[in-house]
Amino acid sequence: MTTLLRRRALRGRRGSLKEFPDMPLDILFEVFSHIEPMDLLNLARTSKPFGELLLHRSAASLWKQARQNVPGLPECPPFMSEPAFINLCFDSHCHKCLRPNIQPVMWAFRVRYCRHCKSGMIVMISQVRQILEAASPFRARYDVRELLISESEPWLRGRPLFKFHKADVETLVEAWKGSGAEVQEDIHSSQLALIKQMRDNADLCSKWQMDRKLSRSAEIDELKDARYSAIIAKLREFGWGEVIDDSPWSVWSRLRGVRGVRVPKQLTNRSWQAIETSVLQVMEALKSAKNAVGHITDLPSFPQPSNDMHTPGSVPTHIIRVLLPWNA
Ligand SMILES: [Zn+2]
Repeated sequence: MTTLLRRRALRGRRGSLKEFPDMPLDILFEVFSHIEPMDLLNLARTSKPFGELLLHRSAASLWKQARQNVPGLPECPPFMSEPAFINLCFDSHCHKCLRPNIQPVMWAFRVRYCRHCKSGMIVMISQVRQILEAASPFRARYDVRELLISESEPWLRGRPLFKFHKADVETLVEAWKGSGAEVQEDIHSSQLALIKQMRDNADLCSKWQMDRKLSRSAEIDELKDARYSAIIAKLREFGWGEVIDDSPWSVWSRLRGVRGVRVPKQLTNRSWQAIETSVLQVMEALKSAKNAVGHITDLPSFPQPSNDMHTPGSVPTHIIRVLLPWNA
């Protein structure tokens, strides 16, 4: 279902899907109950009727259901619509120029910007003060950071540099323009509460994104380890068991450098055929070294620095056992 609903697939299927928006909502809810949020967003972008149906407030429970299909995804915050929140969490396009693959999310500002757009959309604290002053007399008792959510980064001598989102400043200026003391006080109070909600949401989303990244990285390591184990099993089948048992670490150290070995994909007959010659060349070299001196000595006993080595779980379990015999 998930794959079927992808935008590309939909292009060829509009004929069969065009009646969907006219179906009773309860049937649609049933049909979409297992859908993932990004599929729902793509569906909403597919055609005008889908957009009208799915981007209407009455479809909120559909979005909620889709959101709950993603483990650990925080609740949609009250200051965003469900589709906007899903767009922020899953659609990696720059919010201004639509450049693809923009991974860092500025959670506090609820946007993704590419490097090019970022510089024009972020303003410094002194600029914000000037803009507010120009809109209406800005009383010194208001801290700009209580009126607008900010992000900070260390600057000169450890002093933080506060940055603000231009769109937030523009929204505030609209309310601030020509306002008197009483209105400014109301704005101040409501902004304090809103900033707290935004800050809490940004913390939750940032943690969710980090956890997701780590679990993906663990998943990739597991796939790589499983492929390596399958290669070792294959080599044992072909009679290389003695060389492997003589120095599993040396075998690991050499084989992981062979193109196609440390790949996060299941080993198939076809992929084995693609790497077989290179793998067997390595095994032959190790066997020659072993025959020359009785055991394998031509390889380092300790891991060589490489990015692969710094990833938790990147060394297969049976190799870890060799390195840490007390844990076997
Ligand atoms: Zn951009």
